Amino acid sequence: QKKIVRLPEWLKTPVPDGKNFKKIRNDLRGLNLHTVCEEARCPNISDCWGGSSKSAATATIMLMGDTCTRGCRFCSVKTLKAPPPLDPHEPENTAEALSRWGLGYVVLTSVDRDDLVDGGAHHFAETISKIKQKAPTMLVEALTGDYAGDTEMVRLVAQSGLDVYAHNVETVEALTPMVRDRRATFRQSLKVLDTAKKAKEGLITKTSIMLGFGETEEQIWETLRELRAIDVDVVTFGQYMRPTKRHMKVEEYVTPAAFELWRQRALDMGFLYCASGPLVRSSYKAGEAFIENVLK
Ligand code: SF4
Ligand code: SF4
Repeated sequence: QKKIVRLPEWLKTPVPDGKNFKKIRNDLRGLNLHTVCEEARCPNISDCWGGSSKSAATATIMLMGDTCTRGCRFCSVKTLKAPPPLDPHEPENTAEALSRWGLGYVVLTSVDRDDLVDGGAHHFAETISKIKQKAPTMLVEALTGDYAGDTEMVRLVAQSGLDVYAHNVETVEALTPMVRDRRATFRQSLKVLDTAKKAKEGLITKTSIMLGFGETEEQIWETLRELRAIDVDVVTFGQYMRPTKRHMKVEEYVTPAAFELWRQRALDMGFLYCASGPLVRSSYKAGEAFIENVLK
């Protein structure tokens, strides 16, 4: 008999209302910035953009276009072998727009660009260094792909002036081939995080795990142990949500109590901080967490 997994109450959150979005659009008007927060209608937007103060406000910006060369089975971003070329003005324009917006913490992320020799690493690094020139107090987190295992590219980005290097393992090792594009492996992702950590003294490294693919408790424990062994500082846990019927199905809706338990366990293992909850995304209130735990 087919098991039907229903959406539990705690995930039935209203999408942020029109008033909130109008305010956000006003803030962004004329800046020509495309935030993932707004475009994905992220339910956390009031928490992240509101923050405890403007200096803690967090937003996520997508670089290098909207088309990825990979096709992970949980992700709804469109895929092409050869997406359009990069916009050479994007680093300058993004830095300029962000400095005028003046928020405290920006997460820069991008699609994977296996079609480019450097995977877009120079473009990413240039954007970060331009932001730091124009807005030196803005904290910058880069959430990158794995650069197909090219550790030189990881080092380049890690040394570009950023504060947090994030790369998501997404799931436990055993489920990686089912969940992520075949070019992404768990070992390669650990190598990215390890390389970044060693590339710059004091750099914070971070990763994110989605729950609900059918992973076991022991597999999650093992993942956390592997991450601690290479000094990953921050981990986040969120619920996998199936974007469309063509994507992997959800095996389990993890309860808020179980998410809280994983948060506690991660802290007990020595992670600097951990955001964990059904609606948590890797950038969830990242500014506030950084200020409270790193700058304290
Ligand atoms: Fe934006 Fe990430 Fe916060 Fe969602 S969780 S509002 S995408 S910063
Ligand atoms: Fe989506 Fe990233 Fe996978 Fe591309 S590499 S399909 S953007 S999760």
